[in-house]
Amino acid sequence: MRWLFCLRTIPLIIAFLIFLGCSDNWVNITANVSLVKEELRKSEPIGNGHVNNKKVRPKGSPAASIDFDGQIAMRHIETQTGFGPRSPENPNAKLQTLSYIRSQIPSSMEIQLHKFNANGFNGTNLWVSSRAAKKKSTTLIMLGTHWDTRSQADRDTDITKRNMPVLGANDGASGVAVLIEIAKHLHKQPPEINVDLIFFDLEDIGNIGKNAYAMGSREFVEEHPKYRPTAGIIIDMVCDKNLRIPREHYSSLSAPEVLSRVWASADRQEANAFKDIRGGAIIDDHIPFLEVGIPVVNLIHFPFPKSWHTTNDTIKFCSVTSLDQVGRVVLDFIYQYSSNY
Ligand SMILES: [Zn+2]
Repeated sequence: MRWLFCLRTIPLIIAFLIFLGCSDNWVNITANVSLVKEELRKSEPIGNGHVNNKKVRPKGSPAASIDFDGQIAMRHIETQTGFGPRSPENPNAKLQTLSYIRSQIPSSMEIQLHKFNANGFNGTNLWVSSRAAKKKSTTLIMLGTHWDTRSQADRDTDITKRNMPVLGANDGASGVAVLIEIAKHLHKQPPEINVDLIFFDLEDIGNIGKNAYAMGSREFVEEHPKYRPTAGIIIDMVCDKNLRIPREHYSSLSAPEVLSRVWASADRQEANAFKDIRGGAIIDDHIPFLEVGIPVVNLIHFPFPKSWHTTNDTIKFCSVTSLDQVGRVVLDFIYQYSSNY
């Protein structure tokens, strides 16, 4: 993923940046986000501080006690990084990772592989469906994350390491780890609504050569035009010891109700990594969904941690507590939807 906004303090400056582009971050955005950009231009200028404080707190929703095992999630990170970088140059690690994710998904859930080719790269999205409530509910929540990792550590402070791949403990493995444990939780305690979990490939080679970010999710959306989940959440970079998740800009703009539900869950779960402040504008796997009108939000650490796109993105900066918070908040979100289906 990438962030688009360098500054967000003065509305006029931001409006100016939107128009002219924000250094190299803006000029490389693909035409595919033009719809979102257009919405952004029409939107209110960005200011500091709290935005959209209106919270959707479903009726009859006492704080749910949710048993999420951050320790096991941490082991999923360890296993994935043990395979090595999951970038296109490392097909064996990618095969091992896909196989591992599949092995962890409860047998009650259906798994489909969505194979695609984008910009000359072969990719695989892993689509898991938990449709226990299929006949009872028309609500479908999509949870997503990317399972690939970046080919080049182009943010490393050591320039001799910038051609090395990123191990992606945080940027890749952490989201997968949380979704695997969520799948297990949904198996043990099925909600009254349907839930899909999609592990997207080829999110993180954007701006390497002529590649874009979020290629796997874009291919998924384009090849499944009838796929219309009620709402969705993308999680990305969620294990850092100093985890800080503000309200991502495009999510606030295009999926405010979903975002409010997430923050209501964060309140209930007392998850203090979730900050009720405005974050950056991020290109991630939620964008292709937003472009076709599906309200999907992005939960991502911002400002990005120092390990982002460096060779330091290793498990030593990950925290069980951070994984636990994100897991509980997303599950709370699901069960709240479930209680109101
Ligand atoms: Zn990344």
